[in-house]
Amino acid sequence: MEKHLPYFKLIEELNKKECPICKIIKEEIDLYCQNLFYEYINDVSFRKAFRENFGFCNFHNYLLISYRDVLGISILLKDLFEILQKRRKNSFFKKKTKCLLCNLEEDISKRYISIIADFKEDKEFREKYLNSCGLCIPHYDMLKKYCRTIPTYIVEHQKEMEKYYLNYLEKDIDKLNYKGIEIKNFSPIYEEAAKFLWGYKYSYKKISPNVPIK
Ligand SMILES: [Zn+2]
Ligand SMILES: [Zn+2]
Repeated sequence: MEKHLPYFKLIEELNKKECPICKIIKEEIDLYCQNLFYEYINDVSFRKAFRENFGFCNFHNYLLISYRDVLGISILLKDLFEILQKRRKNSFFKKKTKCLLCNLEEDISKRYISIIADFKEDKEFREKYLNSCGLCIPHYDMLKKYCRTIPTYIVEHQKEMEKYYLNYLEKDIDKLNYKGIEIKNFSPIYEEAAKFLWGYKYSYKKISPNVPIK
């Protein structure tokens, strides 16, 4: 099977210390949100979908706010307040469809899961995969649903990663609980472990008061 750009993108992301699909999702969603304020904000079909859904899901609403683009966010929120003003009894919310950004995340996940399925027996892919931290639990579950059989090296690698995080967490608890070592004197694993357990939604952009307001 021929290797295209998304395959090489995946291989590149396998070098990092987190699930490669989560990493790609974060980049693509970030790009989408940045474009949203320059492009989609003037797009009639985007604004209509945003209004009909009353925003995104809770997670992505707060992600959107974290960009602190005051003009863009105010325009989008104003739309929603106008709906509130016009509401009639029993016709407030139309049936919500799935959040636009959740849909985008799902498409990206499916695209890269299918690439893993196509190249799982490839020598180069296998080598890179074994040198990475593998997939987060949500993406590993997706792979399991997608493939009838998962190669043993992926299953074993996943188990090793689970053991690695569990052991590390036990050591960290021991250091803090019994040995009285101060947190500043070692690097705890909990952030990496949370990314592994919950995927990109944990490791997303945080709402920070230090981000300058545009
Ligand atoms: Zn992931
Ligand atoms: Zn969402």
